[in-house]
Amino acid sequence: MKKYLPSIVMFAIFETVAVTLWQTLDNLFYLFNFSYIGTCIALGLAMFAAGKKYARRFVQFAVGSYMLIYLGLLSNENMQIEGFWYYLFMGVFEAATIHYAVAKIFGPLLFGRGWCGYACWTAMILDLLPYKQPQAPRKKKLGALRYVMFVLSLALVASLFLAHVGNLERIMFWLFLGGNALYYLLGIILAFAFKDNRAFCKYLCPITVFLKPMSYFSLWRVRCDESKCVHCNKCLKVCPMNVEVNNDSRSRQYGTECIMCFDCKKACPVKALH
Ligand code: SF4
Ligand code: SF4
Ligand code: SF4
Repeated sequence: MKKYLPSIVMFAIFETVAVTLWQTLDNLFYLFNFSYIGTCIALGLAMFAAGKKYARRFVQFAVGSYMLIYLGLLSNENMQIEGFWYYLFMGVFEAATIHYAVAKIFGPLLFGRGWCGYACWTAMILDLLPYKQPQAPRKKKLGALRYVMFVLSLALVASLFLAHVGNLERIMFWLFLGGNALYYLLGIILAFAFKDNRAFCKYLCPITVFLKPMSYFSLWRVRCDESKCVHCNKCLKVCPMNVEVNNDSRSRQYGTECIMCFDCKKACPVKALH
């Protein structure tokens, strides 16, 4: 039963959010939305605990495609970072602002970059490409591009407001379509150029500007019992994010990029990772 504890805890957290938002904002949608996401994540964690190989893929597609197709395409909610700025400028706490608060700003204090490993609709496609483990060393300096993307996204939405452009809601929908197409295109190009499926996450994704600092303090993280480690480096070879996971410290190299996929744990021959 103990192995299913993370699944139960995650379900309880999402249900608490679902009921709180439903009651506070008097909107039944939030009960459905967060219950659905919480159920998918809890099911995935339970499948993972039971040793099912495709547990993470299941959650990625169940949550990622729900957000992309149902929320984005059918309900016209811009859930990308531009949507977050849009709702923030509008002064409304709904849709993308709630999504960012839960998944990308405060949530990472609890579950790190679980969003990146289990729910992101961009990575759900990028993870299907052939370079699951990076085939080339990381280009350290390129990480600065994420800040350029972050500022550009903010400047784009701010300029629409400053120019008093009309029909902003429709424009945000088209930005959502265009933004996603651009992310997929850049993500695929970078993956092949660097032989690394997650190159987009490492160098360009603007959301990491929120995710990285918050996940540094994450309650849930991969721990290493260094007294057990035999320095075989198998965990380092399988890690898609180049995390120095055989070092237990929070300040380990690329520690804030861990997507909680647990491939390292599966690879460790002496069960030093947990
Ligand atoms: S870094 Fe960005 S693109 Fe990559 S999984 Fe996280 S949110 Fe998605
Ligand atoms: S392999 Fe381990 S350290 Fe690397 S991202 Fe996955 S869980 Fe994190
Ligand atoms: S796989 Fe295990 S034993 Fe090998 S380096 Fe990583 S933590 Fe240490």
